[in-house]
Amino acid sequence: MVRSSAQSRLTGALEDKFRHLWYLVGNTPMLELNYRYQDRTGSIFVKCEHYNLTGSVKDRMALYILYQAYRLGRIRPGDTIVEATSGNTGIALASIGRTLGHNVTIIMPDWLSKERVDIIRSLGAEVILVSKAEGGFRRSIEISEELAARGNVFLPRQFENSNNAEAHERTTGREIWRQLVLKGRIPDAFVAGVGTGGTVMGVGAYLSAMNPKVKIHPLEPAESPTLTTGYKIGSHRIQGISDEFIPPIVRLDELDTVLQANDGDAILMAQKLSRQLGLAVGISSGANVIGAIRLSLDLGPEATVVTLLCDSNKKYLSTDLFREEPARESYLSPLIEFTGYDPIERLTTPTMLMD
Ligand code: PMP
Repeated sequence: MVRSSAQSRLTGALEDKFRHLWYLVGNTPMLELNYRYQDRTGSIFVKCEHYNLTGSVKDRMALYILYQAYRLGRIRPGDTIVEATSGNTGIALASIGRTLGHNVTIIMPDWLSKERVDIIRSLGAEVILVSKAEGGFRRSIEISEELAARGNVFLPRQFENSNNAEAHERTTGREIWRQLVLKGRIPDAFVAGVGTGGTVMGVGAYLSAMNPKVKIHPLEPAESPTLTTGYKIGSHRIQGISDEFIPPIVRLDELDTVLQANDGDAILMAQKLSRQLGLAVGISSGANVIGAIRLSLDLGPEATVVTLLCDSNKKYLSTDLFREEPARESYLSPLIEFTGYDPIERLTTPTMLMD
């Protein structure tokens, strides 16, 4: 529902707050990671999304959805922001929502890491936990709709809100393109693990418009191949990707083949990024790097393959990321050695403030 323009107008003070927030969200560093695999060498490009305000890629979407909601009169001062989320979105909405003066309620499954719950609460948001027996993630979404029906609530609805993908089209995708241009490179392939699918669809849209030949690959956990099968199957440890359904934002027919990463391999890769390069990142970053290196090995040393480091390792202190993970024969990470990285120049003005 679009409310009247009198209610919807962004005041100068609010416009300023959004502008200030864009200096803390996006415009992340990009690195070219150099690796050795058996007798071959190669490189991949990674966007360091753990440099965002709350330490994850989801800040972009949260800030953009709230900005558009204000512009279009879908949220009013005093509304409570309510969202069902597996964690990083909750942290992003709590931080940005509180900055903008809103109460925030986050509903999430109770089996995700304790750190996420504590961080969301520390930002002044309320957290409602839903167990598997109560219905898990699907029930979390139902509860958010029930709360919204009572009124004075804004639901970002990250799984179906087209502003989610648009955030990545207008910021992440554009930044990737511009930073690669500074290196004289054009992306040949991009891969991203799919949670809501906002990243892969949005970055995919921008890069495809700039280079129609670019390959855009979604990635899923091998233990829980929801994208490939169409339904919830198995369980996995790559928090933040593969929920219980194919999100409405994701249009597989517009994407290239679905890649997979084992969760144990993703953990080992994230540990390796931390131990060999000092890049202390989360498990989905490990999965993305596995996907990107596989593509780079397929496409050859000249190819420009890009992915994201989605968040840092701090939210996973109580998980297997901080334990010894056994290697299996099919894993890629034991065969990879990182030899260093080259930073790519960072952009100075936030992309959202360039228009
Ligand atoms: N990695 C992590 C750690 C995440 O929290 C998310 C978002 N759920 C993703 C990857 C996937 O991002 P997207 O929702 O844009 O598909």
